[in-house]
Amino acid sequence: MKLTILGYLGGFPSHNIGTSSYLLESADFSLLIDCGSGALINLEKLKDPLSLDAVILSHYHADHIADVGVLQYYWQLHPEHYKLKELPIYGNTEDMDNFKKLDWPKSTQKMGFSADDSLQIGPFEISFLKTHHPVPTFAMRIVETTTQKVLVFTADTGYFDQLVDFCKDADVLMTDTNFDNSNTSDVRWHMTADESAHLALDSHAKRLILTHLPDDQRLAKIKQEVAQVINDQIRVQLAQEGLQIDI
Ligand SMILES: [Zn+2]
Ligand SMILES: [Zn+2]
Repeated sequence: MKLTILGYLGGFPSHNIGTSSYLLESADFSLLIDCGSGALINLEKLKDPLSLDAVILSHYHADHIADVGVLQYYWQLHPEHYKLKELPIYGNTEDMDNFKKLDWPKSTQKMGFSADDSLQIGPFEISFLKTHHPVPTFAMRIVETTTQKVLVFTADTGYFDQLVDFCKDADVLMTDTNFDNSNTSDVRWHMTADESAHLALDSHAKRLILTHLPDDQRLAKIKQEVAQVINDQIRVQLAQEGLQIDI
């Protein structure tokens, strides 16, 4: 499968970089993971948005769903395509108000999931772990059925021990690393550089992508702090717009 990063900032877009949005492709199947600010315009650079097969949302914070509305209009206003199919958008059913908005006439269809579900979406088998975040949020473990390769996306979360098992042996682990190690507050809704790095080592990830990044000089600090812990044991990269990873 091929992962392409469309946007990776946490919170808000800035300096022409969008927020959480990732394209995952296997054979002819295209899954959009999160649909943050700038997702549609960056997706369009790569492929016709009408060729998407499904969308899945980790949670309903604005930096993860900002472009859902315009994606729905895009599909609705291309009637030559909506007659063929509606685009399924998978979201959690714990937040019903936001879940219901995933239905849009002649455009998109809401599809629910909860923590215990295991979904087969095209060539991907997806299981979930509810994370530590102020709203219902779900990490995703995505297995490509044909190859058994594994991508784990932590979604937005503070660190908690159950993540280690959930992330176990991922071929690619993509972690919310919004904080450098100077953030020592008692309650954190995102992981620090140290926490991401230790999660990758403890879960025996083969490759680590740091994402949900801040848009400032802390990036260099985060990268350095992660590198100190990882110590070249696995490959680590900061997320970048357009970065493609074959998994
Ligand atoms: Zn976020
Ligand atoms: Zn969030």
